[in-house]
Amino acid sequence: MESTVASKLEALLKLQSIDSQLDEIRRVRGDLPEEVQDLEDEIEGYEVRVRKFDDEVAALNDSIAQRKQSIKDAEGLIRKYEDQQTNVRNNREYDAITKEIELQKLEIQIAEKKIKEAHYQIEQKINEIEGTKNRLEERRKDLDTKKHELDQIVAESEEEEKNLEKDRESAASQIEERLLTAYNRIRKNVRNGLAVVLVKRDACGGCFNTVPPQRQADIAAQKKVIVCEHCGRVMAGVEQRIY
Ligand SMILES: [Zn+2]
Repeated sequence: MESTVASKLEALLKLQSIDSQLDEIRRVRGDLPEEVQDLEDEIEGYEVRVRKFDDEVAALNDSIAQRKQSIKDAEGLIRKYEDQQTNVRNNREYDAITKEIELQKLEIQIAEKKIKEAHYQIEQKINEIEGTKNRLEERRKDLDTKKHELDQIVAESEEEEKNLEKDRESAASQIEERLLTAYNRIRKNVRNGLAVVLVKRDACGGCFNTVPPQRQADIAAQKKVIVCEHCGRVMAGVEQRIY
């Protein structure tokens, strides 16, 4: 199927009009989607840190419980040894049991010291994590606000955007690959997203440089695809002036 230049230009104009509407929707949303994403990433980082902290504190509490148990065990042994001591037959047995008791007392001292250390470590970790938890709380509030804002904006334009995207797909499918690639390239390189423009008031509708009368006539004739010599945008036609 050989399409005429005029119909190609018409298809390009249609695509441009759809893209401009999509640009406007996204402009209204602004940086919000990115800001929401950044906040979510930041929050996840804090949550990982808090979880790691919780694990570490749990491990320290476990070790405290174990040491407390071993203190109880040692105390049990000491009571048992002290009972035995009342029934010893000679000094040697008595001394041997005394040694065992001292050993258990030493065990208790060591365990108590370790428990103290673990409590200190927990305290340190609680101080460390306090700041993180505060920041996490703040960021969660920020995220709620931003998400709410974004949801509202998206809800207002969601259906329109979906329809435009559908329209865009069908409009783009009408345009040959080579032209579409050029269109996308120009759009990316210009600030206002306009790749296809009309001549308006004797000037390029994209960069506002004057278009000479003969060139305007060529553009109006639509026999070939003409681009602006200043900005490279496709000039699809000349806007009808109302006198
Ligand atoms: Zn131009």
